[in-house]
Amino acid sequence: MFSLRTISILVSILSILIGCLILLLDPITFPISLEYREKFCLNNNDALKTIISSDSIIDSIQYDKIKGECYFSSDYYDARDRFINAAKKADATLYHFPLKDNNLTTDVAIIEGSHHKYLIHISGVHGTEGYAGSAIQITALELFSNDYYKKMIKDKQFPTIIFVHIVNPYGMANNRRVNEDNIDLNRNFLLLDEFEKVINREPNFAGYKDIDFLINPTLLPYSYTLLNDIHSFGLTIYAAAKYGLSFIKKALVSGNYFKPTGLGYGGIRLSKSGFNLKELLIEQLNIGNKAKSIVLLDVHTGLGPSGKDTLAQLAGKRKRSIESIFPLEYEKSSYFGYKYIIGGMKESNYGTGPNSALSGYDLTVGTVTEDFCLKMLAPNLNDDSRLCILQEFGTRDMVIVGKTLTDENWAYHYGNNEQKKFYGKRLKNSFFVETTIWKRNVVRRGLKVFLQGLHYSLNEIINISETQL
Ligand SMILES: [Zn+2]
Repeated sequence: MFSLRTISILVSILSILIGCLILLLDPITFPISLEYREKFCLNNNDALKTIISSDSIIDSIQYDKIKGECYFSSDYYDARDRFINAAKKADATLYHFPLKDNNLTTDVAIIEGSHHKYLIHISGVHGTEGYAGSAIQITALELFSNDYYKKMIKDKQFPTIIFVHIVNPYGMANNRRVNEDNIDLNRNFLLLDEFEKVINREPNFAGYKDIDFLINPTLLPYSYTLLNDIHSFGLTIYAAAKYGLSFIKKALVSGNYFKPTGLGYGGIRLSKSGFNLKELLIEQLNIGNKAKSIVLLDVHTGLGPSGKDTLAQLAGKRKRSIESIFPLEYEKSSYFGYKYIIGGMKESNYGTGPNSALSGYDLTVGTVTEDFCLKMLAPNLNDDSRLCILQEFGTRDMVIVGKTLTDENWAYHYGNNEQKKFYGKRLKNSFFVETTIWKRNVVRRGLKVFLQGLHYSLNEIINISETQL
């Protein structure tokens, strides 16, 4: 019969064909039109207006009735307008942080509560991933425009709620995951001495240089997209056979601080977007000194099974009682040395083992949930008083996501305008799945996790001495 070699060649050819087919189907997405929005979304907020009388803020909502697709925007500018409108309706205070001019801004809506408790919800650290977090924020703000919640917010025990809308506006507006300087912002939140350390480390310490040929091609050899797809899938299979997919993933997500045109580039100093975040939360609001308790949620997309979310805490030295805050959804995922990474998903076992969304991240530095939240925002709080959580929604197969990242990065640096546009759109499709079911899952789970964070923050008893009041 067939030899092992023949079988492996056939399997490889089959995977290449399947991969190409998936990419060919790319244009078949279901973005909702303005007409749909006007026709079917007008009364959508009924689900958010109908508050179920309940002791728990989490159970006051009928999640399965929320038409999540209605909260998704068509592009960055649409998202910004809707966020600002929703913030105004919720009587939130708005701040705008421009990148260079007012054309691209990170917008922040603050619903003031206690100055000792903060609930911070962040979207769009990775530009194209911003659609999901933006939709969740617009939904939550719409909820807070409800009189029932407005009244509840006046209660002194409510935390100050801060929505940071699109940390990386350039990326979202231009279908890029990175910022205007090709920087992956989730590798960029480092202190000065930490930058020095990563810049001077051995570039290949996690295998980045080994896979450079795969992730940073300098040319696409053919003039036909299909042939290039076959070529790059072939390369992926070769690299996967040589190094293994886990190695490739780890080498990529560990970041690079030496190749400014490469994937996963973390920069050599804090980016403008990073400064904006620091300026507001640390300088202006002085959260680091005022806060006795912080819950930070940072929404991303791209890893894990489609439409499911992984809640992850890349934490310090001790385990928190996460299970009680996010019941059922949480389970232990993996251990990496002194660090632990917890991830879990409802209705799936993808949260466990080396194939989980967060596997391979043990060497990653400069993230919002770890470095920014723990070291910059609230360095003086202990682990019991700060909960820094990443919520990551799966989109498509990991290999497809990796390939679209590689191709888009190639097109941005070496391609013509048409190629930039084409591969940019593909990248967007990799991190934002335009189906109704995906959008509903994202909004329903996103809102629920947000309210779980709020519930925890509301009920957390903090010790504040007389002088601090
Ligand atoms: Zn991300």
